[in-house]
Amino acid sequence: MDTTAPQFDNRLLTLLPGDPESGPRRREVLGAAWSPVMPTPVAAPVLLAWSPEVAAMLGFDPAQVDDEGFAQVFAGNALYAGMQPWAANYGGHQFGHWAGQLGDGRAISLGELIGADGRHWELQLKGAGPTPYSRGADGRAVLRSSIREFLCSEAMHHLGVPTTRALSLVGTGEDVVRDMFYDGHPRAEPGAIVCRVSPSFLRFGSFELPASRGETALLKQMVDACIARDFPELKGQGEALYGDWFAQIAVRTAEMIAHWMRVGFVHGVMNTDNLSVLGVTLDYGPYGWVEDFDPDWTPNTTDAQGRRYRFGTQPQVAYWNLSRLAQALSPLFADVQPLQAGLAAYQATFVACTRRDVAAKLGLAAADDADLQLFQRWQQLMQDGGMDMTLTWRALMRIDANTPDAGVLAEVFYDPERQHAVQEPLQQWLQDYAARLRADPLSAPERFAKMGAANPLYVLRNWLAQEAIDRAEQGDLGGVHALQDVLRDPYTERPGLEHYAGKRPAWADNRAGCSMLSCSS
Ligand code: AMP
Ligand code: MG
Repeated sequence: MDTTAPQFDNRLLTLLPGDPESGPRRREVLGAAWSPVMPTPVAAPVLLAWSPEVAAMLGFDPAQVDDEGFAQVFAGNALYAGMQPWAANYGGHQFGHWAGQLGDGRAISLGELIGADGRHWELQLKGAGPTPYSRGADGRAVLRSSIREFLCSEAMHHLGVPTTRALSLVGTGEDVVRDMFYDGHPRAEPGAIVCRVSPSFLRFGSFELPASRGETALLKQMVDACIARDFPELKGQGEALYGDWFAQIAVRTAEMIAHWMRVGFVHGVMNTDNLSVLGVTLDYGPYGWVEDFDPDWTPNTTDAQGRRYRFGTQPQVAYWNLSRLAQALSPLFADVQPLQAGLAAYQATFVACTRRDVAAKLGLAAADDADLQLFQRWQQLMQDGGMDMTLTWRALMRIDANTPDAGVLAEVFYDPERQHAVQEPLQQWLQDYAARLRADPLSAPERFAKMGAANPLYVLRNWLAQEAIDRAEQGDLGGVHALQDVLRDPYTERPGLEHYAGKRPAWADNRAGCSMLSCSS
C-alpha cells in the first residue's frame, strides 16, 4: 500500500440513506440525503493556486501537489482510491421564502479525507458539473467567483473567523457563459473549480428539507448522523441531546456572526441553505467588506431592493434563520422549551461576544454599558463621516491618551465635506475616549497589542479581489498569489504593503465586481 496516498472514510454515506439513482438527471430526490454523481471532466486542468496550510492539514506534501495528477483530481477528471463522489440534498429559505429542494447544484463532494491530524475533512469541488440538483443550470463556476471563494476562505481563516477552507483553485480550460447582472448581456468567461474543505457541509437547509416533506424518520437520522460525525463531544440522549446540539449550533452561529461584525464582513446571501450547522462561514458569493462605514450596505445587487442581508442586520438574520431551523427540528421535540433555550443562547452569546469585541476593538480591559455607548457613538461618527471602517479602527490605535489628536484619522475619509461635518463631534468623542483610556488598567503597549489583534489592517476589499481577477483573466496569477500572501497575516502592518491597506480608489466606485456584485457566479 502507498502510505502517502490519502485515506478516505466517507462516513456521511454510511450514516445516511442515499438516492438509489446515480448520475445527474435533474429530479426531486425524496427520502435521501445525498445522490451519487461523478464530476464531469474538463478539457485542460491547470492548478492556478493552492493553500499550503490546507494541503499540510490534509497531509499532502508539496511534491504531491506539484504532481500532474493533483490538478486532474481537483478538476474532477480523476479520483484517488477511496473517493466516492456525491451531491447533497437540501432545501432552504431564500430571501425570506421557502424555496423547496435546492441541493448541491454544482458542488460535488469527493470524500472524507483523514487528515494529518487524524480528523475527517470533507473535500468538495465547486463547479464540477451538473448534479440532480442543478435545476437547469450548468453546474459550473466562473474564474472570478472561484478566485473570490478561494481567497476569502483562507483570508477569513487567518482573520480568526470560523470558515470552510480552500485547498485548490484549478482552471478548467473551458468557458462558462454568464449574464452577470441578469440584464441580457451574457458573455463567455473562463471556468474554474475550487476544492473546499470542511469537516461538514451540512446546512440549516439540510434539516429543513426532510422536515418540510414530513420525512421525520430521515430528519431524525440526519440529526443523529450530524451529532455522531460533527459533534462527538455531545453526550446524553433523546431530546436532551438534541437540545444541546441545537444550542451548540446557536452558540457557534453567534460567535461566527460576532466575528463578521468585528471585521466588517458582509456575507451577502444569508439564505438558510448558506448557513452551516458547524457555525463556519459557508458559500462565498457576493460578499464584501464594509469600507465607508454604513450598516445598511450590502455588496449584493441581487438584494439591492430589500437589502435583507445588509451588514447591520446580519445578527437578526442569523436569529431568524435559527428560528427556521428550530421550526424544522420541532417534530423531534415533545416540548419546544429546549429549542427556545437554544435561541436564547444565541442572543446571550452574541451579546457576550459583542462586549468582548468592543473591549478589544477600543483597547479596554473590559467593556461596561457606558463603553458600549461609546462604541455606538463611534460607529455613528464613522457612518456620518463616511469613514473607512478598517482604517479608522487601525488609526484609533495611534491615539495618545494624554493628547488625543484627530490628525491620526486624516486618511480615513472618502469625502472632505462629510469629514468637515463631523469635526466637532469627533473631537468631543476623542476627548471622551482618551479620558476612558486613562481610567483603564491596560498600559499603552497592552492596549496597542489588544487593539492590533482585534482590528485587521489587510482585508479582502472587493476592488483588491477585482484587481487580482482582472490579471488572472489575462493569464497572470501573480495578483492572486500576492493577495494570498498578504492576507495570511492580516493584523501585522508591513512596509511595502500600503496598496493593500488603502481606501477604495475612485475607479472602483462604479465598477462591476467592486461596488456591484450579483449572485451570478
Ligand atoms: P447559491 O446562491 O450560490 O448558494 O446557490 C443556490 C442554489 O443554486 C444551490 O442549490 C446551488 O447549488 C444552485 N446553483 C447556483 N449556481 C449554479 C450553477 N451554475 N449550476 C447549478 N446549480 C447552481
Ligand atoms: Mg449556496
